[in-house]
Amino acid sequence: MANTILNTIAALEEALPAGRVVRDEETLRSRRHDYWGLQAVLDRGPSAAPSPAVVVRPQSTDEVASVMRIADQHRMPVVPFGLGSGVCGAFLPGSEALVLDLGQMDRLLDVDEKSLIASVQPGLRGSTFEADLNARGLTLGHFPQSIGVSSLGGWLATRASGQFSTRYGNIENMVLGLEVVLAGGRVLRCGATPRSSTGPDLKQLFIGSEGTLGVITKIDLALWPRPDCQQGFAMRLPSWEAGLEVTRELLQGGYRPAVLRLYDGIEAQRNFAEWFPEPAHLLLVLSEGQESMRHGLELEVEAALTACLAQGGTQLGREPLDHWLGRRNHVPSWDDLLAAGLVVDTIEVSATWRNVAPLYERVTTAMAAIPGILQASGHTSHAYTSGVNIYFTFVGQATDPLEQERIYRAAWAATMEATLGCGASIAHHHGIGRVRREWLPRELGDTGIETLRAVKAALDPNGILNPGCLI
Ligand SMILES: Cc1cc2nc3c(=O)[nH]c(=O)nc-3n(C[C@H](O)[C@H](O)[C@H](O)COP(=O)(O)OP(=O)(O)OC[C@H]3O[C@@H](n4cnc5c(N)ncnc54)[C@H](O)[C@@H]3O)c2cc1C
Repeated sequence: MANTILNTIAALEEALPAGRVVRDEETLRSRRHDYWGLQAVLDRGPSAAPSPAVVVRPQSTDEVASVMRIADQHRMPVVPFGLGSGVCGAFLPGSEALVLDLGQMDRLLDVDEKSLIASVQPGLRGSTFEADLNARGLTLGHFPQSIGVSSLGGWLATRASGQFSTRYGNIENMVLGLEVVLAGGRVLRCGATPRSSTGPDLKQLFIGSEGTLGVITKIDLALWPRPDCQQGFAMRLPSWEAGLEVTRELLQGGYRPAVLRLYDGIEAQRNFAEWFPEPAHLLLVLSEGQESMRHGLELEVEAALTACLAQGGTQLGREPLDHWLGRRNHVPSWDDLLAAGLVVDTIEVSATWRNVAPLYERVTTAMAAIPGILQASGHTSHAYTSGVNIYFTFVGQATDPLEQERIYRAAWAATMEATLGCGASIAHHHGIGRVRREWLPRELGDTGIETLRAVKAALDPNGILNPGCLI
């Protein structure tokens, strides 16, 4: 290991309490990469990710600031780590980097039950936080499938979305206050207020910055009373377009069901085989709120039912919805899939209503044309008055790691190209990381990418924060 790295580690050990700087083989190996599907493929061959130089586990904002000061002085790359569930290769530190593991900054600091605001440290696990809120009769309303394996800091850093976002909003809608440690160790604090008109919203700079602009050390989040009334149903629909039309009508009619999930025929059959022996389109609808809102929820579900029937839908009752609710947080293992000779990934993008049908056609057609791809499919899960996301899934077949890599890269390239060709956004909520990096300049444009680079240069002039990610 180079002397400069050893000197930095010595400086860190001197500045921090005992036990914060960790260098045992097992810990270093466990902090090599996130949950990126391509890295799982590469790890089976000669391009396995190396261990980082050192892992540091701070317990306070002051300790994070000390780490950032020392790393900046020694020009050592720093890569924040939440819980490593990112799926785009945003966390891939390399052999010369310091991993800033926020797992010991995992406390719920305060709950203001009058204003419905929680203050938390970034390393808090999503499911632990939600369980604690539920015990107080509250919820955040943010339910990513990865809620049990991801942190609150990671949610902000990747600009995450939960499965109930159509009612509660995405993570950026929930953040009221933020504390961030910048490269060099200065601390930026944005206090929790319901709203302010004090120039550009600095918090939004860091939401989605993927560890490249600062380290999030404290978050204030808006809460909701925990819902105690749910209504919903599942509907078989004659076409994908019919499902899109129902979704658009509801959103533009002012309704906000928590869940509106539209599956194409392939995905309905794959995930709901009991009800779909033959491929057909499926819409899941779930409304929720307080018992005192029951009448409003009934009206919302009634409106959804009417819209579905008008499109030629067939009612399936609640069972497929309950089936999804019971399995929705299952985390698949890349290793199991790859060992079975399957290369699988999901790619989430978003489009306006005008573009969404052509986008689905172009992406699924382009993916299906790739040699080795068995299935190309999609579902929508986050709806807006202006449009919707599409979660594309590809399943390829190959046992040779080089062939698996070819299929993986080709499916992503086809999806990114078709998405840009339709004027849609290349990322709805997983972020850019490394997998989408080469396409980002085309979405942001030259001036957009230069602006992002200028912000990076101003906040992190020595480029120590998560180099190689995002930009
Ligand atoms: C099975 C599965 C299902 C998923 N479902 C969803 C879903 O429904 N919705 C969704 O949005 N995402 C989903 N994801 C993606 C992933 O869980 C999210 O991106 C999550 O927000 C990452 O959180 P993390 O704590 O694991 O972050 P990590 O993977 O540890 O880090 C992600 C990025 O954030 C940076 N970072 C982490 N903490 C901080 C911090 N405190 N300050 C600054 N930067 C930081 C890291 O450097 C890295 O660049 C899913 C992933 C899996 C594996």
